[in-house]
Amino acid sequence: MSVRKAEPYKIKMVEPINLIPREEREKALKEAGYNPFSLRADQVYIDLLTDSGTGAMSDRQWSALMMGDESYAGSRSFYRLLDVAKCITGYKYIVPAHQGRGAEQILLPNVIKKKGDYVLGNMHFDTTKAHIEIAGGRAVNFIDEKAFNTTDYDPFKGDFDLEKLEKFIKEKKAENIACIIVTVTCNSAGGQPVSMANIKAVKEIADRYGIMVLIDAARYAENAYFIKKREAGYENKSIREIAMEIFSYADGFAMSAKKDGLVNMGGLVGIKDDEELYTAVRSLMVPMEGFPTYGGLNGRDMEALAVGLEEALEFDYLESRIGQVEYLGQMLHDAGVPIQWPVGGHAVFVDCKKICPHIPFNQFPAQAVCNAVYIEGGIRPVEIGSFLLGRDPETGEDLESPLEFMRLTIPRRVYTNRHMEVIADAVINVAKNAEKLVGFEFEYEPKVLRHFTAKLRPVK
Ligand SMILES: *Cc1c(COP(=O)(O)O)cnc(C)c1O
Repeated sequence: MSVRKAEPYKIKMVEPINLIPREEREKALKEAGYNPFSLRADQVYIDLLTDSGTGAMSDRQWSALMMGDESYAGSRSFYRLLDVAKCITGYKYIVPAHQGRGAEQILLPNVIKKKGDYVLGNMHFDTTKAHIEIAGGRAVNFIDEKAFNTTDYDPFKGDFDLEKLEKFIKEKKAENIACIIVTVTCNSAGGQPVSMANIKAVKEIADRYGIMVLIDAARYAENAYFIKKREAGYENKSIREIAMEIFSYADGFAMSAKKDGLVNMGGLVGIKDDEELYTAVRSLMVPMEGFPTYGGLNGRDMEALAVGLEEALEFDYLESRIGQVEYLGQMLHDAGVPIQWPVGGHAVFVDCKKICPHIPFNQFPAQAVCNAVYIEGGIRPVEIGSFLLGRDPETGEDLESPLEFMRLTIPRRVYTNRHMEVIADAVINVAKNAEKLVGFEFEYEPKVLRHFTAKLRPVK
C-alpha cells in the first residue's frame, strides 16, 4: 500500500476568515440582489467564485518580490522571467502582459487579418471570444459532444471533435480561418483536459491547411498532469516534458498567469519563431499594455511569476492541487450529488438541472442552488448556466444553456481538505432539500455581461 500524502507545504502565514451568522447571510444576500458577485468578500466564509488570481504565493515567491527590478526598460526581472518561460515552452519570443485578456488583446488582432475570419477552438473562454469579436473575427467551438454528457466517464472531455473541425475548414476554406486556439484545460467545459493525441491531431490538420495554432495556456500545467495520469505513453514523462510537448504543437500562446502562473496578477504571450508576428505584437503592446519589457507588470510581479511558473510544474504540487478538487468531487459523487464526471482540474461543476428539475432555465436553477449554498454555509460558488449566458443579441430572448452548473472553484494552495469537507456538507444539505428551492427573476438586468451586476428576486 502506498503512503498517504498530505499537502506538500506547511502554513507560515494565516488570513483569518469568519462565518457570519445565518440571519446576516440572509440579509447580505438580499442586499446583494441574490447575486453572490455583489457580496462583499468579508461576508463570505469560503470563497469559490474563481481560481483566477486567488491562489497563495509561496515563501519563495514573496522573497522574490524583494528582488524586483523596477527599471522602465530592460529590467533584470524581465530577463529572469524570459529565461524561465523560454525554458518551459521552448519558444523564442516571450512578452509579459497584465493578465490573460491583456495577452489576448495584443496577440489576437495581429492574427485575425480580415473581418469575418473564423477562429476555431475547442471551447473559447469568454474574454477570448470577446477579443476575437473585437478584432473582427468569428469564434466557433468544436468541442467533442462527450463534454455535454456529465455522467459518463471520459478521461479527456476537453478534446476537439476533429472530424467536425476539418469539415468546417474544408467548407469555409483555409484562407478564411485566422487560427485554431486549443484551450488547455478547457475552462468552459468544466476544466476538462485535452489529450496529447488530440492536440497533436489538431496540429496535423492545421498543418495540412496552413493554419496557425495557438494555445490558451491558462491551465497548461494542470492539463499536463492529466496527460501524465491518464494517457498511455506519458506515465513516465515529467510534467515539464509533457508541457514542452504541448507547446511544440503550437505556433504561439496566450496565458493568464493568474492560474498556473501561481500569481495574483499577470499574463504572457509566447511566439515560437515568427519574427514578423512578434514585431507586430510588440508594436501593439506599447499603447495597450506597456513597454515590451514590462507589459503592465511591476518588476516584482515578474520575479514572483518566474518562481510561480516553476512551482506549478512540480508533480507533488499538482497531485495535491488536483487531488483536492477530486476529494471534494468524490464526496459529492458518493452522496449522490450529480456533478460533471470526472471532475476537472480547477473546479467541481454541480449539475443543477438534475438537482432542480422544477425550476425552468429562465428562472436560473443553478443560481438558486448557489444562493442556497451561500445561506447554508457562507460559501460563495458561481453560476455557469443560463443566467451567465444572457440573451440573444438579435431577438432579446433568454437563451437556454445546455448545462446549468454551479461551479465550486478551488483557489490554489489556499484552503485545506477540512474546508473541502465543510463545503461538501453544505452542498449535500442543499441538494437533499432542493425541491423547496425557488427560481429567480430580474429586478434589474444590465444589457451586457448581466451576471456580474444584475439584481434578482425570488419568484413568488
Ligand atoms: C482566465 C482565463 C482567461 C483570461 O485571463 P484573465 O487573466 O482573467 O484576463 C483566458 N482563457 C482562459 C481559459 C481562462 O481561464
